Amino acid sequence: MRIYADNAATTKMSQTAIDAMLPYLAEAYGNPSSLYALGQEAKDALERARETVAGIVNAAPREITFTSGGSEADNQAIRSAAALGAAAGKKHIISDAIEHHAVLHTLKKLEKEGFEVTLLPVGRDGLVRAEDVAAAIREDTCLVTVMYANNEIGTVQPIRAIGAICREKGVLFHTDAVQAVGHLPIDVAADNIDMLSASAHKFHGPKGVGFLYAKKGVRLVNLIEGGAQERGKRAGTENVAGIVAMAAALKEAAERMDETAAKLTALRDTLIAGLSAIPHAALNGDPAKRLPSNVNFCFEGIEGESLLLLLDDKGVCASSGSACTSGSLDPSHVLLAIGRPHDVAHGSLRLSLGDDATPEQIAYLIEAVKDVVEKLRGFSPVWRDLCAGKTPFLL
Ligand SMILES: *Cc1c(COP(=O)(O)O)cnc(C)c1O
Repeated sequence: MRIYADNAATTKMSQTAIDAMLPYLAEAYGNPSSLYALGQEAKDALERARETVAGIVNAAPREITFTSGGSEADNQAIRSAAALGAAAGKKHIISDAIEHHAVLHTLKKLEKEGFEVTLLPVGRDGLVRAEDVAAAIREDTCLVTVMYANNEIGTVQPIRAIGAICREKGVLFHTDAVQAVGHLPIDVAADNIDMLSASAHKFHGPKGVGFLYAKKGVRLVNLIEGGAQERGKRAGTENVAGIVAMAAALKEAAERMDETAAKLTALRDTLIAGLSAIPHAALNGDPAKRLPSNVNFCFEGIEGESLLLLLDDKGVCASSGSACTSGSLDPSHVLLAIGRPHDVAHGSLRLSLGDDATPEQIAYLIEAVKDVVEKLRGFSPVWRDLCAGKTPFLL
């Protein structure tokens, strides 16, 4: 049995998305900027994709800019708000401690360029408090950026409430919705969102393509200079096949969203209940305000990397957190932010379920994790010391 339980890192392309893409690689390969029919065919497909994507998040097509993915959209959104802020003498940005590195590293750069950044803490539940956002807003705040759903622990933030506060105070609000788009219902108008980032490969589309929604009137700055593609805001010949496939994947995900979410929520809760039976284990993130697909645990006395290797032997593809931090020895900034001590944060496991998850797979996952945790603890001097009472249990 092979179980792919790392859908927060990337997803398998849907057959619908592959089928939608192929004609734009093989036949309709024209450049959308070319005036002859072959080019215009590509241009039409591009604009249809823009309408589809816009419709699904309740935006206008003109408010959608296609990008190379979530990281680029995050960079462009934050850089744009910073430029608007700087022009108005406002150089304060509010975000939180558990953002993706595409946001955090952009903010670090801006700090070096003279911006002041307030990173709000999250509670032990992994949630940002809307009232903390309200309290942090100052006269010179030009942007609030809070992710829709966290990529490691799956927590879904109170986006609509945060958006309402920003709207009331006249501050731009960006959300990195890469984990949410295609999985949760999103309405940029009702949610009071000014800018939103999304990435196709997180909802069964291809890698290397995404989009940035920017509300009418929010002026974007270019990260890439060149031709006049994307209304002059993103130069470079458009990734037509990828964009068409993204729209097809998103349409399919949106049509199945309620059904998929209900199914995954039930499977997720079974998995959480099963893993909670392991001694000295703890769920990370709020048990209910989380993505239907996300399960994240810490196991005391375990090293995350070995856990992943032994699970791989059992055919399970999982993660210890963010793909960006695996391979480094630093524990996850997200787990530290929710108050997990260093030692415990090292023993983390993220299982992110796919739309095709089954009850049989969940049963297999529970047994596989139990087995591997027990095996590793059997070898672990840290675990021996914990059991002998030489060091106290933290979980
Ligand atoms: C995956 C991810 C990104 C990066 O998206 P790419 O398309 O891989 O650049 C950004 N933010 C979050 C929350 C993500 O999960």
